[in-house]
Amino acid sequence: MSTPPLPHETYLRPEDLWPRIVSTTRHALATGALQPIATECQTLEQRGIAFQVRVLGRAHLKDERTKREKPRAVPFDPFENPDPDLVVGGLSPTHLCLLNKFNVVEHHLLIVTRAFEEQESLLTAADFEALALCMDGLDGLGFYNSGEVAGASQPHKHLQLIPPLGPDALRVPMEKVLPGAPGFAHAVTRLGPWESSPARDGARLLAAYQSLMKELGIGHPLPPYNLLTTRDWMLLVPRARAESHGINVNAMGFAGSLLVKNQEQLQRLQELGPLELLRQVAP
Ligand code: AMP
Repeated sequence: MSTPPLPHETYLRPEDLWPRIVSTTRHALATGALQPIATECQTLEQRGIAFQVRVLGRAHLKDERTKREKPRAVPFDPFENPDPDLVVGGLSPTHLCLLNKFNVVEHHLLIVTRAFEEQESLLTAADFEALALCMDGLDGLGFYNSGEVAGASQPHKHLQLIPPLGPDALRVPMEKVLPGAPGFAHAVTRLGPWESSPARDGARLLAAYQSLMKELGIGHPLPPYNLLTTRDWMLLVPRARAESHGINVNAMGFAGSLLVKNQEQLQRLQELGPLELLRQVAP
């Protein structure tokens, strides 16, 4: 049920993360373990936010049809014994860092628990310490899709981290208006100065998460929600729906990065406006 640490395993240090991401990516592309999804990226500007909309290519849809897997008797857990070619490294006794096998943006990391934990369970000190270690090595966007309605496709607990998306020096397009009111239900907080100590930064991330959950009155049973964090701010979005107009939204949507399946969906999104889509799935 898990990928335990090896007896003499050394854990990744923040300064080693980026070189390891680059070398693991190069190797995983060569072996075919990494299978990036090609998209065309468009910008849709709304209220000063330069939304990035990625449109899946026809090649992807054809690939999906030919690669579609047979139903399995026992559901497959891709993070139980992850493909070694996708493993960036161990982060702690409890967490591993992997490359996202089907990445849309480059260098997309998954921070998974070695032992199975439910994706819907509360985030813990160990989760945030592992995330903080990675965020110390890569100053991007950390996020978590809690539950299927929030966009999770795997039940085994996984946080995610992507490099800055821009535009310019922004980590993500939505950063332009945060901590202002972006028009969908949310709670947001600034975080104190980054300390480059995974233990202390992880503890601050955990405290911020707990206070945002409290502010929104989120308790048991846990509703679906998206969590987004950088070194500077954390945003929590409770979810009512997985999609609207056929367009699925996960945490990256609230960062200002959306994925649509085809030109028709792109046109629908242009007519609707990205902020209205976000409001419909997080009213
Ligand atoms: P989410 O869909 O947000 O729950 O994130 C889970 C991610 O895991 C998806 O983006 C998939 O691309 C990725 N994924 C699926 N199978 C594998 C695998 N075998 N190894 C690594 N990543 C995977």
